[in-house]
Amino acid sequence: MKLKRPDVIVVGAGSAGCVTARRCAEMGLRTLMLDRKQRNEVGRKVCGDEISKSHFEATGIDFPGGDEISTVIAGADVYPPSMTNELKVRGWKDFDGWTVDRLKFGQRLLQEAIRAGVYFYPECHVKEPILRGDQVVGVAYKDLANDEEQRAHAKVVVDASGFAGVIRSKIDHPYIEDKIDKEDVALCYREILELDEPLSEPEVAQVFLGGKTAPGGYAWMFPKGSQEVNAGVGICGGEGRGSPRSYFSDFKEDYPLFNESSVKEASGGAVPVRRPLMSLVTDGVAFVGDAALQTNPIHGGGIGAGMRAGTILGEVAKEAIARRNPTAKGLWTYNTRYL
Ligand SMILES: Cc1cc2nc3c(=O)[nH]c(=O)nc-3n(C[C@H](O)[C@H](O)[C@H](O)COP(=O)(O)OP(=O)(O)OC[C@H]3O[C@@H](n4cnc5c(N)ncnc54)[C@H](O)[C@@H]3O)c2cc1C
Repeated sequence: MKLKRPDVIVVGAGSAGCVTARRCAEMGLRTLMLDRKQRNEVGRKVCGDEISKSHFEATGIDFPGGDEISTVIAGADVYPPSMTNELKVRGWKDFDGWTVDRLKFGQRLLQEAIRAGVYFYPECHVKEPILRGDQVVGVAYKDLANDEEQRAHAKVVVDASGFAGVIRSKIDHPYIEDKIDKEDVALCYREILELDEPLSEPEVAQVFLGGKTAPGGYAWMFPKGSQEVNAGVGICGGEGRGSPRSYFSDFKEDYPLFNESSVKEASGGAVPVRRPLMSLVTDGVAFVGDAALQTNPIHGGGIGAGMRAGTILGEVAKEAIARRNPTAKGLWTYNTRYL
């Protein structure tokens, strides 16, 4: 069924988009969410898969449960370049959480959004915002399944399309940075590895610092079960640093845990590591998640930040629309409440 005259269009059904759309629908807004992926692919994402419990407590979203959980995480060992005298972090609640099956987690967030009343159109590739003067009033998209060009209008458009920011990159506004400096991006590579032997502490994440291992970033080993891990490297600093894959390959060779491990999955990705956008809103549009550059620049985690921001944004969108003022001014409290 099609939704006529949505109040809000959310572009992208990643964790930030699903939570924003759900909150909008819970606030009584007619909400349409578009994603270029097929429905059963929503949630699939190259990631470290780790998320802290604190984000669920802050947003009221149910904790991961059942087979969504790969492992419960209850601490971390942080290794300096010497690989000796590691810092053992235990009992600090910001480190308590889970590694999750990213696809199952994403599918759950999608189902919760739909259950709250969100209309979801999969396989819709958004191309650009529709503008009336400076006000964003909708989006132009291609319905990939039917090979049709479409347009949809709404009072507020939310760009939750991830780092590439399909709407952000097409807005001409001094506060909305469309191009991101290469120095402000961490390039990552990660593998899901099946280990030859069980982990001695399957609830402890490991983080490795040092310019040789990961210049400007870190390497990680997040357990995903007693004998499976998500391990990777993120490096910063722009061009001339080499590839994260080659750093990971050196790291893997040096680390005895990975001897005889087999690769179940391998891929790379990019994470913004800087402050969020100068403004998270302008006329008729708001940005959330990686599209808003909301990842934590210290560790690159962004699932929780997008969930927290989306929860606020749903409430602010409701207020702005109720006051018939979905302009930058009407949406401004999203900036002040998030930042
Ligand atoms: C290697 C790596 C490891 C990471 N590890 C962690 C970690 O352990 N913990 C953590 O918290 N964070 C981690 N992050 C960061 C985290 O994955 C992101 O911050 C988070 O997933 C961003 O969510 P999002 O919803 O903003 O964007 P995304 O998850 O990127 O979702 C964007 C959605 O928009 C859709 N889309 C994009 N363009 C269009 C378009 N034109 N039309 C329609 N749909 C579109 C996409 O299909 C996608 O579904 C990691 C990132 C990387 C790359």
